[in-house]
Amino acid sequence: MPATNPDGGWGAQRTPLPAPPLGLDPTQRDGELDPLALRTFVLSTLSPEDRRALRERLTPEERARLAAETAGPEGERLLMIRAGLRLLLGQMLDADPGAVVLDDGPCPHCGRPHDLTASSPAGRRLHYAAVGRGDLIVYAICRFPVGLGLGVPDGPGRQAWLRARRPARLAARRQAVARGLCSAPRDSSLEHIVRYVDTAPEYDCVVSVALEVPYRPDNPVFRDPPTD
Ligand SMILES: [Zn+2]
Repeated sequence: MPATNPDGGWGAQRTPLPAPPLGLDPTQRDGELDPLALRTFVLSTLSPEDRRALRERLTPEERARLAAETAGPEGERLLMIRAGLRLLLGQMLDADPGAVVLDDGPCPHCGRPHDLTASSPAGRRLHYAAVGRGDLIVYAICRFPVGLGLGVPDGPGRQAWLRARRPARLAARRQAVARGLCSAPRDSSLEHIVRYVDTAPEYDCVVSVALEVPYRPDNPVFRDPPTD
């Protein structure tokens, strides 16, 4: 079992999906999605200059709202998470990060926060998810509804890692549901694909990513395992 793979069982045959670091250059364009992009964002690596530049990616309303909602380090953390998300969406949508429109309200059908979407002024639209624990933030950007879930082991050792898989997987699946389909009967034209995200062991968590994709018999690399 690779040292980076917190999973056992079938997961031992599956390499966790790579999640390279978020690039901080807002002019970087990264529109290649096939169909999923994962990024990690480690807040402690940010210099004061990085933080100042990131704040510029937020809208004035976001800066005011987030500053009012949570003061101190937690407020700063939320600001950085939101700014990093905007930066990445700007790169993916080929748009000014501050001009991206985020739809992250609750689902009008069931009230749950699932199927978060972002649109560019030019009308491009992508699905996104974000999850974090302390210093580590993971973003997912996808052409399909996507969810991320995080599980924290309740102790050291492999068994604790294995127990953390389930909450991570369930949370990811709950989020990766297209709005409007959440309460309707599911049909066989859609499937959920669940994989793990490669995160460094020092962050002590299991991160799952789930995609709701159109069913194709030959659906690729991402094919869900039948077990578990
Ligand atoms: Zn819903």
